[in-house]
Amino acid sequence: MNAIAGARQSLKDVFGFDGFRGRQEAVVARVLEGRSTLAVMPTGAGKSLTYQLPAVTLPGTCVVVSPLIALMHDQLRSARANGIRAATLTSVDADWRETQHAFRAGELDLLYVAPERASQPAFREFLSAAPLCLFAVDEAHCVSEWGHDFRPDYRLLRGLMDAFPEVPRLALTATADRQTRADVMAQLGIPEDGLVLAGFDRPNIRYSIRHRDNPVRQLTELMASEPGPGIVYAPTRRKVEELAEKLAAATGRPVLPYHAGLDAEVRAANQAGFVASEDMVIVATVAFGMGIDKPDVRFVAHVGVPKSIEGYYQETGRAGRDGDPSQAVMFWGAGDFATARQRLAEVDEARRSAERARLDALAGLVETAGCRRAVLLRHFGEDPPSTCGNCDNCLEQPSVTDVTELARKLLSA
Ligand code: ADP
Ligand code: MG
Repeated sequence: MNAIAGARQSLKDVFGFDGFRGRQEAVVARVLEGRSTLAVMPTGAGKSLTYQLPAVTLPGTCVVVSPLIALMHDQLRSARANGIRAATLTSVDADWRETQHAFRAGELDLLYVAPERASQPAFREFLSAAPLCLFAVDEAHCVSEWGHDFRPDYRLLRGLMDAFPEVPRLALTATADRQTRADVMAQLGIPEDGLVLAGFDRPNIRYSIRHRDNPVRQLTELMASEPGPGIVYAPTRRKVEELAEKLAAATGRPVLPYHAGLDAEVRAANQAGFVASEDMVIVATVAFGMGIDKPDVRFVAHVGVPKSIEGYYQETGRAGRDGDPSQAVMFWGAGDFATARQRLAEVDEARRSAERARLDALAGLVETAGCRRAVLLRHFGEDPPSTCGNCDNCLEQPSVTDVTELARKLLSA
């Protein structure tokens, strides 16, 4: 049985899954061939499987670098529940000796460590005592200063991995912005052809980007067409308060504000109310949404422009997690970009060109006459069809027959 066929068998036998999801198989196949890879897939896509499956298929231990102890212990529990031989070496583990013994005896599939441990010389020496099959670097954007979560210890991983040149590397992240991606590959020594990126399309979300004239009226219309729960992102606390009040009055629906200036109890109550509700709209600053698990959000609206395409994707991505039809609508004005460009002057110089590039990319999405989804996916490096049929530009594009018909009418008039 070849390696990928063996992995397919373990997918079923060990993990209980009927098949691979998205491009998991492409990543696993590369790893089994010993080729270093950066896997960029959205949260929830199933990145862990892409190192756990090789770890149980290949001889030798897979060393997993993960930034948070809590995350490691979650992974440890679920791996062990599947019968995988896994361990962590963290400051809160009491069973170090057993773990070290099991590793030396070649009885560990997965060994989870924090970057600060991994970068210590003693750890390098420890790893030389038994065969390794893979280095997996989870949350790999932490290695890049372009990313939003730079961790200096991640920089030292390269030294560790270089000491084991025959062991392939698999870096994993949900952060798809181009600069971060390129930087992660360079920092971790992953070849340029080692990128597997996929799964960013959210086909059930309809994207629309419209000029803002009267946001209260425009949002009232949107809410009339979408009776389910929604999130409205507004740029300032004052705007949040004002819109929440006016929309409640105009629509008669439950509309609550959320921003960092509210009391913690009020924030928690409004968030809990929203999560439980089937028709509530929450008007919020970007402080709202992280870690909220509400699958039936029917629309996400932006009043003003988000900070970047990444921000837009993340915020609109809170719509339609249940897979049902949902909308993402942005109401923008030319002044939004002017304000954002002025703000660039206050950004320190090192980050300014990156921030400017982010803003330019966003302007490209807003101003395009073509398919919005195509711009989004291409930005992330995915290869989309040229039209999606589910964004404002695709839907409102007069079809060829309409244009011919129109021309005929004009000529005969
Ligand atoms: P990520 O790290 O990409 O955010 P996880 O690795 O935590 O995602 O996986 C998310 C969920 O998807 C987990 O519950 C996992 O068990 C599930 N999952 C992963 N791969 C598959 C698959 N091939 N079929 C079904 N479920 C899967
Ligand atoms: Mg993960």
